[in-house]
Amino acid sequence: MPRADEPTLYTLSPNGPLVRLYQQPDLPCRTRVGDFDIDAGPDETPDERVARIAAACRTCRACPAIELCEAGFAELPPRFQQGVWAGQARGVSARTTRAIAQLEDAS
Ligand code: SF4
Repeated sequence: MPRADEPTLYTLSPNGPLVRLYQQPDLPCRTRVGDFDIDAGPDETPDERVARIAAACRTCRACPAIELCEAGFAELPPRFQQGVWAGQARGVSARTTRAIAQLEDAS
């Protein structure tokens, strides 16, 4: 989901899913923002990045807000539809998607 400290570059529906998602206080992606980033960290290898994103996707599956998160993702303008949302890495390459799936199949 978008970081809470990011400027909002689009208009949100006041009672829509993104606003209600922002109002959730203790979501894992809020307390561990860097774990949910789809970009590689400065010292992160490609394998480490894939493992971290796969772990974030697993964390999402236990998140109480997963359905709201999926609805929030759908509310985003297409150009902002990327990142780990509702248990899926959105906006990553097909190769990364396959690597994440392979890790998940192996676990
Ligand atoms: S499902 Fe994942 S990305 Fe969505 S709110 Fe929960 S932890 Fe965050």
